[in-house]
Amino acid sequence: MTATTLVARTGRAIRLGAGDSIAIVNLFGQQVVDTWAISAVDPTTVLSMAHTRMANGRVFVQEGDALVGSDREPMLTLETDTSSGRHDTLIPACDPARYRQLGAVGHHDSCTDNFRDALHELAIPAPGQVPQPLNLFMNVPVGPDGTLGIEPPTSRPRDRVTLRAVRPLVLVVSACPQDLAPTNGAHREPRDIELRLRPCFDHAGGRSVS
Ligand SMILES: [Zn+2]
Repeated sequence: MTATTLVARTGRAIRLGAGDSIAIVNLFGQQVVDTWAISAVDPTTVLSMAHTRMANGRVFVQEGDALVGSDREPMLTLETDTSSGRHDTLIPACDPARYRQLGAVGHHDSCTDNFRDALHELAIPAPGQVPQPLNLFMNVPVGPDGTLGIEPPTSRPRDRVTLRAVRPLVLVVSACPQDLAPTNGAHREPRDIELRLRPCFDHAGGRSVS
């Protein structure tokens, strides 16, 4: 098992083999983590929130759910979740336009830039349009009339979600740099996240197959 810090406001791309798992640990409790996956075999296949909602029959995801690609096949399993289980599948990643709308002047870090930069580091071409991510720990209540809110996360310090890759893929995570809305808590202060990568071991030889 390898533990690393995903520094607040930054992103990272990680190659996962089939069976590899990663725990995303919310060290301070209220940090949202935008999460994407791209097939290592066919990069035009990406984790799709629309297809995931369709497959699970729910707006929200929960422990045991399949996270489904644009080819309607599972890419990841949401294996365990110690949090209150509130994660968003509806809201696009923050981007420079969003921060301009919120009044930011000049450069502001964003999850879309983090997504592109993280893939660039692995020399993987980014899709022209950044896919809509799974927003882990993001609290977007859906009212009976369909209205949406953005409220502080309900997760607690050291809550964690474990994702297991169903097939080879590139996982991209971004510790959301939103500090102009209560996305990352009422304090509006982006925080570090811990990533715990656990490669799959083949049972015959006990060696990593990732
Ligand atoms: Zn963001």
